Amino acid sequence: MSATVGAARLVFLGPPGAGKGTQAKILEDRYGVRQISTGDILRANVAAGTPLGAKAKSFMDAGDLVPDDVIIGMMEGELGTLQSFVLDGFPRTVAQAEALDLMLARLGLPLTAVVLFDASRPALIERLTGRWTNPRSGRTYHSVLNPPQVSGVDDEDGGPLVQRKDDTHEVVVDRLSTYDQKTAPLVDYYAKTGLLLRLDGLASIDDVTNALLAGLDARPGSVAR
Ligand code: AMP
Repeated sequence: MSATVGAARLVFLGPPGAGKGTQAKILEDRYGVRQISTGDILRANVAAGTPLGAKAKSFMDAGDLVPDDVIIGMMEGELGTLQSFVLDGFPRTVAQAEALDLMLARLGLPLTAVVLFDASRPALIERLTGRWTNPRSGRTYHSVLNPPQVSGVDDEDGGPLVQRKDDTHEVVVDRLSTYDQKTAPLVDYYAKTGLLLRLDGLASIDDVTNALLAGLDARPGSVAR
């Protein structure tokens, strides 16, 4: 296992449902790499009725992106003091990626890798529409592919599982098309930096984790334990 995982600064890129959140949570639980999920932060703000949540809600409900200035301002507050992190769901536009580059340059903490989770459209629709989420922890299950031991209950903390409002078929289709238009260009953006690591997001959870850890290990500058 890589000694560098604990010091990683990662971007997780890929369409909704490709496994970014699941793998980010595994890295956080096993290696203490802090998961920063913009979707989780926004949903918590919507639930708490904050001004940020009020700005974001209508975009989220429609499967659109929240405007760049709102997201960039929010992320500036999140990144300040962290030496290692996995960004799950950010950046999602080229403007956000450029803003992230500036923030990290100011902090002197460059990204160590950008991981692309690849997945085909029909599989993503099946995954997202069968997904059950613990809104407190962000942990997810699937009614068929990865069911909890007791239906509707999180195995880890016993909390209730809910279906996200934007995991309906209609909104999922809109979210995937938003990804194709606005976020997919980031694959080229990061391919040019040499930081990109491509994974098959449709493999089993364990296989994706193993490929992720092996891929991070193989990167220049990693230190084998
Ligand atoms: P997620 O949980 O990552 O699927 O995000 C849920 C929703 O939050 C998205 O459909 C967007 O409306 C919004 N969102 C999350 N991250 C971003 C981002 N980086 N830029 C704009 N909107 C975002």
